[in-house]
Amino acid sequence: MKPRYPFLSLDQTNAPYLDRLKAAACRVIDSGRYIGGEEVEQFETHLAEISQTKYAIGVANGLDALRLILRAYIAIGKLSPGDHVLVPANTYIATFLSITDSGLTPIPVEPHPVTMNIDTSRLDQFITPATRAIIPVHLYGRVAWDTDLVSFSRKHNLIVIEDNAQAIGARSATPGLNGTTHTTGSLGHAAAFSFYPTKNIGALGDAGAVTTNDPQLAETVRALANYGSNRRYHNILCGFNSRLDPIQAAMLNVKLKHVSIENAARFDRAVAYHNNISTPRVTLPPISSTPTDCVWHQFVITVDPSRRDYIRQQLLDQGVETDIHYPTPPHLQPCYADTFSNISLPVTERLARSIISLPISPGTPILDIVDIARIVNNTI
Ligand SMILES: *Cc1c(COP(=O)(O)O)cnc(C)c1O
Repeated sequence: MKPRYPFLSLDQTNAPYLDRLKAAACRVIDSGRYIGGEEVEQFETHLAEISQTKYAIGVANGLDALRLILRAYIAIGKLSPGDHVLVPANTYIATFLSITDSGLTPIPVEPHPVTMNIDTSRLDQFITPATRAIIPVHLYGRVAWDTDLVSFSRKHNLIVIEDNAQAIGARSATPGLNGTTHTTGSLGHAAAFSFYPTKNIGALGDAGAVTTNDPQLAETVRALANYGSNRRYHNILCGFNSRLDPIQAAMLNVKLKHVSIENAARFDRAVAYHNNISTPRVTLPPISSTPTDCVWHQFVITVDPSRRDYIRQQLLDQGVETDIHYPTPPHLQPCYADTFSNISLPVTERLARSIISLPISPGTPILDIVDIARIVNNTI
């Protein structure tokens, strides 16, 4: 049986756009152009504009966006295989996979227990002589950027790559490395986006993008994503195929212009949780009056880890479907058993056992959020 309050229902998410999405798909079908073309170009222009960057390159998915950035830095000689890359230990595994897939070494950094983003006050504890890059992840939609991160990256001359899979449209209070722009995607040297269907702006399949102001990086990413060729049948690099599908570009061209409305709807739901969850046994994610420093990709509460799974079952019995982002941190995944055999990350490991994600999609009516909050108060 479908729960009364589903965690996320994508048909509901896309319902406001349905006619336009169908028309856009038909446009591509009728165009006879199924690789590249106008929809992809229009998407790239618009994404660069909203990200306040010179370049945006559509690619196949978010993981590829990260891999392409790292491989492009290797191709242009700014990173070398074996270099260490700082990464928040509690991120989705894709961030780690992009690093290991590129022959680089991930160095997991503990998150701050309240913001759940990389703990910028502890970066010095994790730096090594081989550290050349850092990938801040704007986890759950919250901007992972502050003056500590900026001065640390400058001091150690690090390449800064934002994992912006979860925070499209967010704004940082602290400006980016260029000293002027505040939008996620423009803060570091390059950024990776995912448009996986569940993200704040989701395609109807896989899609991703890279943004940067660096012309050499942009050109190299574009070439790598197209077999390493800079013109037809001329391969300057050993690349792969990771192009953005024009049908997905067309879907995104419908939805991208509504990013601030979508994010505002998420903020309203976060406010409703804050106004209505009152049990002291729940720790709520911090909320500020500026709606854009977090775009609420997830609404993640923490509870007593010894009761977490029981609580989830109790909520589900009352129709509230929840999720865990993420139950097992990357360093404890079987695929990394050899890579991280003897590290201990107590903050990360405790968070993984304490967190519960509540429904927060723009398709969930506010009245449902109020109901869920009441059930949470009565249950936890
Ligand atoms: C979703 C996600 C990715 C990967 O994106 P895909 O499009 O699924 O490949 C990478 N990093 C983070 C933080 C994500 O949430």
